[in-house]
Amino acid sequence: MEAKGKKIFVVEDEKDILELIRMKLESAGFVTKGFKTALPMLNLLKIEHPDLIILDLMLPDMDGMEVCQKLKSDKATQKIPVLMLTARTDLEDKIQGLEYGADDYVTKPFETRELIARIKAIFRRSDWESNKNVLSVTKDFIIDFNRYEVWVKGKRLDLTLTEFKILQLLTKRPGWVYNRSQILDYLWGNDKIVIERTIDVHIRNLREKLGDYAYLIKNIRGVGYQFSDEGKNDLKKD
Ligand code: CA
Repeated sequence: MEAKGKKIFVVEDEKDILELIRMKLESAGFVTKGFKTALPMLNLLKIEHPDLIILDLMLPDMDGMEVCQKLKSDKATQKIPVLMLTARTDLEDKIQGLEYGADDYVTKPFETRELIARIKAIFRRSDWESNKNVLSVTKDFIIDFNRYEVWVKGKRLDLTLTEFKILQLLTKRPGWVYNRSQILDYLWGNDKIVIERTIDVHIRNLREKLGDYAYLIKNIRGVGYQFSDEGKNDLKKD
């Protein structure tokens, strides 16, 4: 991911944090615009689009969640990735935020290095997703990343958001083995309130729902999980 020239809008009412974020991002090669409230940013969006928006959850004029929902429900802005800044550590807020379409979260206080790593990860993801919004694993196993839908044999699966996100992560790099801690990072960031074994439960449920395609999600003993169709080839060989 090339940081140079990517434009980021930063909406944060705490002046010191806003300045710090902008300074660090600029020195990392990004171009930034700062806003202390949401409305001026929303107005500017009518004529100018950034590559990403960093959005504080608690703003004086609007709730960050509401801003995010507004952005994600408008066709003109829904593809702009949103990274939420939140002082709340409540897991419920995070789940809710993801449902409103935020692409990731950073919980205050944070290291700017961590923030930049997250931004780069979002760009990698959005580059990938803009190329591949719909993944046809096979002709009857289709994942629509925009709509958060998974279709198997013409039927839409009833996946939880967590199950979908796990599938999203694993299919990003087929063959790549993710350990439980990486999966947790992807799902919840630094707030590892859930224990690693919880992942096993989500994966078990996900596999159950995938039915005939369950074999695509492999447990690599002692390491983690992988999305791979190798087993299918093995079966064919047998
Ligand atoms: Ca704030």
